[in-house]
Amino acid sequence: MDTDEIECPKCHEVQPKIDFRCARCGASLETKEQRKARLAVLEQSRREAERDDVTIQRLPGFGTNGTPSAAFGTRRYWAEMSNERRHLFLVVFLLFSIGLAFFWSR
Ligand SMILES: [Zn+2]
Repeated sequence: MDTDEIECPKCHEVQPKIDFRCARCGASLETKEQRKARLAVLEQSRREAERDDVTIQRLPGFGTNGTPSAAFGTRRYWAEMSNERRHLFLVVFLLFSIGLAFFWSR
């Protein structure tokens, strides 16, 4: 058959080849090769989705795949630290100092 139409093996309804299922009885119209190709595409997209998922999970400092975070206290640690965390450290340090000042001034 060299047309773009295919005959349903069950009900013999003639319809476009691109459909996977018969429009009349729902029987599969896929050839083995078509099915293989379709499943390969599905598998590929599934793997890509999985990889994206893994990338999202790969946060710095978590898991073994991420770039190892610098050890605490090193120069690199402070250089890589986010401004938010710097701010937090500063606030904690200030509160600590104020606490100490109150403690000593009594
Ligand atoms: Zn059919």
